Amino acid sequence: SAVPGQAPAGVATHCPYCALQCGMTLTVADRTTGLPSPRVQVQPRASAAGLGRLCQKGWSAAELLEHPERLRTPLLREVPGDRTSRFVPSGWDEALDVVAAGIRAAQVAHGRDAVAVFGGGGLTNEKAYALGKLARVALRTSQVDYNGRFCMSSAAAAANAALGVDRGLPFPVRDLVGTGVLVLLGSNPAETMPPFMAHVQAVQEAGGTVVVVDPRRTPTAAAADVHVQPLPGSDMALLLGLLHVVLRDGLEDAAYVAGRTRGIEELRAAARRYWPERVERLTGVPAGEVGSLARLVASHAPVAGGRGAVLLTARGSEQHATGTDTVLAAIDLALVLGLPGRPHAGYGCLTGQGNGQGGREHGLKADQLPGYRSISDPAARAHVAGVWGVDPASLPGPGRSAYELLDACGRPDGPRVLLLAGSNPVVSAPRAGHVSDRLAALDLLVVTDLVMSETAAVADVVLPTTMWAEEDGTMTTLEGRVVRRRKAVDAPVGCRTDLQVLAGLADRLGAGTDFPADAFPAAPRLVFEELRRASAGGRADYSHVGWDAVAADGSDGVHWGSPRMFVDRFPTADGRAVLHAVEHRALVEDVDAEFPWLLTTGRVLAQYQSGAQTRRVPSLVRSAPSSFVEVHPVLAAAHGIGDGDLVRVTSRHGVAEAPARLTPTVRTDTVFMPFHWGGAGRANSLTPPALDPTSRMPEFKACAVRLERAAPV
Ligand code: SF4
Repeated sequence: SAVPGQAPAGVATHCPYCALQCGMTLTVADRTTGLPSPRVQVQPRASAAGLGRLCQKGWSAAELLEHPERLRTPLLREVPGDRTSRFVPSGWDEALDVVAAGIRAAQVAHGRDAVAVFGGGGLTNEKAYALGKLARVALRTSQVDYNGRFCMSSAAAAANAALGVDRGLPFPVRDLVGTGVLVLLGSNPAETMPPFMAHVQAVQEAGGTVVVVDPRRTPTAAAADVHVQPLPGSDMALLLGLLHVVLRDGLEDAAYVAGRTRGIEELRAAARRYWPERVERLTGVPAGEVGSLARLVASHAPVAGGRGAVLLTARGSEQHATGTDTVLAAIDLALVLGLPGRPHAGYGCLTGQGNGQGGREHGLKADQLPGYRSISDPAARAHVAGVWGVDPASLPGPGRSAYELLDACGRPDGPRVLLLAGSNPVVSAPRAGHVSDRLAALDLLVVTDLVMSETAAVADVVLPTTMWAEEDGTMTTLEGRVVRRRKAVDAPVGCRTDLQVLAGLADRLGAGTDFPADAFPAAPRLVFEELRRASAGGRADYSHVGWDAVAADGSDGVHWGSPRMFVDRFPTADGRAVLHAVEHRALVEDVDAEFPWLLTTGRVLAQYQSGAQTRRVPSLVRSAPSSFVEVHPVLAAAHGIGDGDLVRVTSRHGVAEAPARLTPTVRTDTVFMPFHWGGAGRANSLTPPALDPTSRMPEFKACAVRLERAAPV
């Protein structure tokens, strides 16, 4: 039964975490009949991507709603400007006045770009849009980016360059069933999004083959038919080797290549240099395996009479300083085999964060305006400025990418004030110790979050926001499906939605003078309607996606664009996809005598991203309580390390310590750490700031380290 003043039981919504956005139904217990815990109960609900399943994270999501560590009031430092002083509660007016005054002081003294905005890929479409708009319209700063830069930016850059559009999966996820071969490159859905494994198993049950390319024998790799185990950072060389064999042996779809692509001659010349024996030297994958994998994938291409082949990349392949070119090589392979646009075939990226896709579509990236428009394009600026009711000339140009923005904080030419929403870079950014130092150099750090994350803990002002079950909004899933998040319960008194926070801030920053007084409505529906107008005609066009259609009873959301793209043409100037002749590059910071091993980082099933939320959920903490270092027994023996021993891992950028887990599932030359924890076990203390030249993606997945048993404490 419903709680008076709150939504009735049985609210259809979606999981707050990853981009699968599994459907769930929330029921709200009536506390007049007892005190069930948690008060909000979660049940799985059928949805296209989640197939009516939830993983451990989704099942336990409601445990955080009434968590004692939820923030319930704005917090200011007792001694303003002194971050060693304790936090004291404040009213909302006082807190927002402090923030607005800090913004004004910094911009008067140092210019508009002295204030920066950093968003998160878990924000709803409406929040992402409003945050990007606040930066451009109310703050007029170019300094805005989001942590999606650390997730999908390489795949996004590659898809835009090659296919003319970036939508994680440019086909419905259910297209996977029926494919002849599914190749997962650097993807571990068995732990990151377990319900997705139902799609993978369906491929196998229908007679298809599943291939996993990963330096670790992950649970996904263990469930695959074929596991290829290259050195971290060498996926591009492997893909070039596959292209070499396909083109050498005439296995390509010549008609598709001639009719639907550009650049085959340059690609052919590049691929010629990656004969299998050379690829073996670069990747550690035996030459024979390179050849057999190429022939396996090609045999399922439509041109060979196959049912289709699907190539999916994820963070393992993308989070590198060569990430964009690695994905371009994967797309090259898909294109020469004639896969994109055909049923049960193509290339896609498995988006990670809940709304990583929507974040970049609605203007939260340094170089983009809503509708996935370039901020440097005069026509795009004019369109968006028209919707916003401001002069196009007043819109700033492109700013710094996420890591570069964090690295510039507190420097003479960098931001002096940072507004950070729904992100925890003290744990999730590369070279995290250095990033912490840069945040400490700011004049003012403002964090909006649900809990006292590691980044909120070093802020000047902390603003408590509502959680997913306490608000309405839309999210965009990994297949470009816009789904509805619905409110089931009231937030704790004292919390505000991010839209309310932005509206309050805009009121203090010149609403009605520098920009329209109603520019920042707090109602999600109004923001969504504006977002549709702003995106109309852009690369990601939501103008046909109606709020009511997304929210209709039984609706599983609405795809923006066509569910299966590229059937007849690519959204490029001439309708053709572009092949790219990429070249393998060695790691920017490779192994040497001092740092002889490679560290790769990743995820565990029971934690999500920086862990700010999931490390507070008791059932998840029981499953995954703390950081660890996976070490192969052979490597461990060489260092005198036993299972459970505290291990010190040192890179050129920092030190981390965590217990060793001895396992043969990692290579003998590679160790693995999950990145969900801060403190001594923080994996990102080690990772380098090398950036992809195109996407500005940091090198998260390959880091030269040395290893030793830490002295017992
Ligand atoms: Fe939530 Fe992702 Fe787990 Fe689904 S797979 S329940 S969306 S965390």
